[in-house]
Amino acid sequence: MRLDILTLFPEMFDNLKMSIIGRALENNLLTINLVNIRDFSKDKHKKCDDYPFGGGAGMLMTPQPLYDAIMSVKTDDSEVVYMSPRGETLTSKLVISFAKNIKHLIIICGHYEGIDQRILDIFNIKEISIGDYVLTGGELPAMVLVDSVARYIDGVLSEGSTDEESFSTGLLEYPQYTRPAEFMGHKVPDVLISGDHEKVRKWRYDESLKLTKARRPDLIKKD
Ligand code: SAM
Repeated sequence: MRLDILTLFPEMFDNLKMSIIGRALENNLLTINLVNIRDFSKDKHKKCDDYPFGGGAGMLMTPQPLYDAIMSVKTDDSEVVYMSPRGETLTSKLVISFAKNIKHLIIICGHYEGIDQRILDIFNIKEISIGDYVLTGGELPAMVLVDSVARYIDGVLSEGSTDEESFSTGLLEYPQYTRPAEFMGHKVPDVLISGDHEKVRKWRYDESLKLTKARRPDLIKKD
């Protein structure tokens, strides 16, 4: 998958070069191209923001630099998304559909009060939110999108890693334990060291169901 990330702060994405995503980049399982929107500004001071028509607090990102930045990377196969608190909330289902169906994703990171509406209209851009709260910029939400989508690209994680985690089964994940079998007087549940795979499977399912009912009953009611 190729990702073009349009931002005023490309240096914020240095963190993506670490750990699992860093390895995926090294192995060319995904490619990330950072596009500095400011490089496309035709303003003599490279200005990319202005006051909103109609008044109100804050500044808005102007359409010209964004339009030219999008056009510099867009092809017939690209999907363009704008990280925005107004957008569709990012879910596991949406993440998987991006990973499996999109070969080229262009991600726009807003800043200040956001971007000029005409950019969204001209390119028919989908807006994606990472939750019902407002951040100062779209860079962290874009990283959330990239990280979550990358996990579902073949070869990024080891086989089966996403099969039994929260949301993939429709439930939250069961409690997990590692060595030692006893820590600070707290013992690992006997069933997990019984060697009885069927009992372990049933225990995990029951725990998942219990947790989901307690914390996220909405997941059980859905679908
Ligand atoms: N005025 C906008 C509003 O009320 O919807 C909020 C703008 S916010 C301060 C600046 C930028 O941060 C947005 O353009 C967007 O790119 C990003 N952003 C903030 N919260 C976000 C969220 N929950 N999900 C995705 N992007 C977000």
